[in-house]
Amino acid sequence: MEFMYLGTGASEGYPALFCQCERCSMAMELGGKNIRARTGALINSDLLLDFSPDMYMNKLRYKLDLGKVNHLIVTHSHTDHFAAAELMMRHEHWYCQLQESGKKLHIYGNETVEETMKSALRYDYGTDTIEDPFYEFHIIQPFMPFTLGEVTVTALPAHHKPDEHSFIYLLEQNNTRFLYGNDSGIFSDETFNYLRDKHLDVVSLDCNYGLEDRYDYHMGISGCRIVRERLLDQNSCDASTSFILTHFSHYSAELHDTLVKNTEEENFIISYDGMKVFLA
Ligand SMILES: [Zn+2]
Ligand SMILES: [Zn+2]
Ligand SMILES: [Zn+2]
Repeated sequence: MEFMYLGTGASEGYPALFCQCERCSMAMELGGKNIRARTGALINSDLLLDFSPDMYMNKLRYKLDLGKVNHLIVTHSHTDHFAAAELMMRHEHWYCQLQESGKKLHIYGNETVEETMKSALRYDYGTDTIEDPFYEFHIIQPFMPFTLGEVTVTALPAHHKPDEHSFIYLLEQNNTRFLYGNDSGIFSDETFNYLRDKHLDVVSLDCNYGLEDRYDYHMGISGCRIVRERLLDQNSCDASTSFILTHFSHYSAELHDTLVKNTEEENFIISYDGMKVFLA
């Protein structure tokens, strides 16, 4: 599996869209790994995990061929994860060439995500039942694995947006497992229990609050430590498991190098935009 972090910032981006704070100014000045677009990932070039408002810039900066993407799995409906208005560009009205096999995009998510998609359609087309739809929506249920290309995907309940079924995702390919764990605070018992005795090769965690001791609907480093301890205790990981932190907010999270310095002794890896993880 090839997993690429397209964005590693919180909903407002880092530097934040309208912010003049010192951190945002420093991030602008230093650039590089301090620049964090809204979160999401590309897996094996044909599977997208979330669709952020920065997807067009992602296409440009990473030279992505998004026409290859047939499947999109969505964590929840927050606008940094599901920019439905941008997805309207998948309608044939907006392109002149796309391989026949790629014309339909399959979107997997919860009921609120589906309604968000329909609402964007109604805005653009006056109806949400367009002829020859360019997408097909699949409502997903937690704990029910399904296969997309070479990857088996399982949605697990997140501890995040309580008025909808927010998910994190377990991704499996060739006996390797990648747990994509944002947006979420400390996982619920049912999510931990599902993962019991399943060896995870990579665990990617929500570290929105950076080094702060905080964990509600997101986490800081202390929440990430608690999750790691629990996964170790229940035989879901061991010393070989990589722990990667992501979804950083300018409100709480330090600049990239400071995060690295303060977490490397504990073997946490700080993600950055464009970072790739390979699992054989
Ligand atoms: Zn988010
Ligand atoms: Zn700021
Ligand atoms: Zn969110």
